[in-house]
Amino acid sequence: MVPFDEARAHVLSQCSPRGPVPVALADALGCVLGGSVVAPEAVPPWANSAMDGFAVRSNEVAGASDQVPVRLDVVDTVAAGAAAITPVGPGQAVRIMTGAPMPPGADAVIMVERTRGGPSATVIEILDSVEAGRNVRLAGSDIEAGAQVLAGGTVLGPAHLGVLASVNVRRPVVIPRPRLGVISTGDELVDDDRPLGPGQIRESNRPMLVALARSFGVDAVDLGTVGDDRDALAEALSRAASTCDAVATSGGVSMGDFDLVKVVLDELADMRWMQIAIRPAKPFAFGVLGGTPVFGLPGNPVSSMVSLALLGVPGLRRIAGRSDLDLPRVQAVADGDLRRRPDGRAAYLRAVCSWNDGRLHARPVTGQGSHQLASAADANALIELPDGEGAAFGDHVTVVLLSPPLA
Ligand code: AMP
Ligand code: MG
Repeated sequence: MVPFDEARAHVLSQCSPRGPVPVALADALGCVLGGSVVAPEAVPPWANSAMDGFAVRSNEVAGASDQVPVRLDVVDTVAAGAAAITPVGPGQAVRIMTGAPMPPGADAVIMVERTRGGPSATVIEILDSVEAGRNVRLAGSDIEAGAQVLAGGTVLGPAHLGVLASVNVRRPVVIPRPRLGVISTGDELVDDDRPLGPGQIRESNRPMLVALARSFGVDAVDLGTVGDDRDALAEALSRAASTCDAVATSGGVSMGDFDLVKVVLDELADMRWMQIAIRPAKPFAFGVLGGTPVFGLPGNPVSSMVSLALLGVPGLRRIAGRSDLDLPRVQAVADGDLRRRPDGRAAYLRAVCSWNDGRLHARPVTGQGSHQLASAADANALIELPDGEGAAFGDHVTVVLLSPPLA
């Protein structure tokens, strides 16, 4: 058996990041920034008010209080989007809205709640003193023009997209999402609504693998099911490799398998067929077809899911330019008896992770067979049990998160 780390290292040694290209902001979520971004503009571009209130000269309202208000003439009103032109002279104030430019002469804003006079007053009573700069957002106080605003390698989250928009970077240069072609193989598979004939089963891996890959930010495409036909397999695999950044096949990687996919992949690609020291997902193949990495995932539905999560994801993330290659591993309290027997393999139990009493708990699902996809469907995590005797109820165990535990 091949140790898991060796198989993972083998995959990573043959996966390299795609070249960065400019993409629309709307397509950049989850992509890795190809280089650092320098802000061409300052944010905010000019000083503006952080409050609805009155722009004043702070030295004139020193000592103002409810008992001793300071009265100022209201000389103008500026809303967000208006250009402030009327200056604030001695004894004057400008009514100002949040986000409106600071009028010349004023150096602070008194919030409307600390004034008396009402919305159309021409004279306003100021009830508080204020220091210079209070409630004023200075130009460049979020981002200075010319400053590096995002570092190369940043995995772009929603707020990063907002930051890029705020400095007018419309087409950030990113490493695009890897395009993964997914192919199911096997003569027994039926993927339309025909009644099942003898020996036939419904194809279930493609919809799952495509969706799983997409949930990890991969641009997965469904390339259909191919039966055990040499020419059809060769054609489908070659086309997939030439149009995608990576290919995942399901089925035909187990020992003693008669599937032609093995024969054909061996002819076309430099494949390594492995028995990995994990359970499920022991059979796994990996190779390169015309420069394109090919993941040969096992056919058993749960195995193919686990295989993609544990061995596909690091390779795909490397292609995506990520430096955090694996799905997150965290500690959780075992909500179940997790005893096992030593067999030279690490076990990955499908589990439901949830928060309880401020701690993360992991409960294995009932039905841990590698064909029992219905039981595995509720799992959002894999409990990792190293080779050995397992764990007891209440022990801390390591879990691999397939999706964030929300509740
Ligand atoms: P294999 O890896 O091809 O030896 O397949 C292992 C098991 O998974 C067999 O029981 C297959 O029938 C089943 N299987 C293979 N591919 C699929 C698929 N795409 N959908 C559902 N079951 C599959
Ligand atoms: Mg098969």
